[in-house]
Amino acid sequence: MQPLPGVLDHRAFSRVRVDLGRGDVCDAGKVVYRSAADRVSICAGCYARLVREWNGREGRRLHALR
Ligand SMILES: [Zn+2]
Repeated sequence: MQPLPGVLDHRAFSRVRVDLGRGDVCDAGKVVYRSAADRVSICAGCYARLVREWNGREGRRLHALR
């Protein structure tokens, strides 16, 4: 499974404490966050990317409203 990080909502993810193997997105990093709703597990690097992309979108939207 290779979901596009841009379509995932980082707020749906919660930290996992068990070993779930490698992330679904990059299949490289150890799983640190999981979304039960999307059934996607991601590593810390992909989560950071997700948050960054989300913030970028929100920032542009806010900017457009001014
Ligand atoms: Zn990853």
